[in-house]
Amino acid sequence: MASSPPTDSPFDCLLFDMDDTLYSSKVGIAQIVRRNIDSFLVKICGFSSEEAPVLRADLFRTYGSSLAGLRALGHDVDADDYHSYVHGSLPYDSISPDPKLRELLSSIAQTKIVFTNSDRNHATRVLDRLGVRDCFDAVVCFETLNADASGTAPIVLKPSIEAMRTAVNASGFEPRRTLFLDDNERNIAAGKAAGYGPHWLGRQ
Ligand SMILES: [Mg+2]
Repeated sequence: MASSPPTDSPFDCLLFDMDDTLYSSKVGIAQIVRRNIDSFLVKICGFSSEEAPVLRADLFRTYGSSLAGLRALGHDVDADDYHSYVHGSLPYDSISPDPKLRELLSSIAQTKIVFTNSDRNHATRVLDRLGVRDCFDAVVCFETLNADASGTAPIVLKPSIEAMRTAVNASGFEPRRTLFLDDNERNIAAGKAAGYGPHWLGRQ
């Protein structure tokens, strides 16, 4: 992945979170994802409708996603089933092409990588809707972080240090010369622990 970066820049690579970073949380996708996760927790896992939103928030805070948390707590949840339930019916048409984002990304000479906990199908659909998929050199996503997500294997996602190390290895650049952009404070903290130097915490 590593290639010749501009010599006068403090960083060689940019690592972008996707959801709520490359497009606004105001689009409404995140709210529908949360609703779908609550439904999954009730209908597939058997939690009550009162427990579901509290559990979802707790699992997200601690493990990066409900799927990772459910697996960590010993639930036998199939990753493909989870992703198709949570992302399968999202209104991707509500994400509009973003020519300004495309122009901005195109003006950056350094290697640009998407680093998301989402599955590849969701990432591809979002990046295609935004019209920026070809602006990135690689997408590090659920499948990259979890080569084996079968059975009861632990799920690896941001903010775990393992996920950060996978992203470092995938980029091929030194973390201290990688600009890490994410809307989640815990992910930024994990990035610092993994050696990322510059960072940007922001939400669209
Ligand atoms: Mg995000």
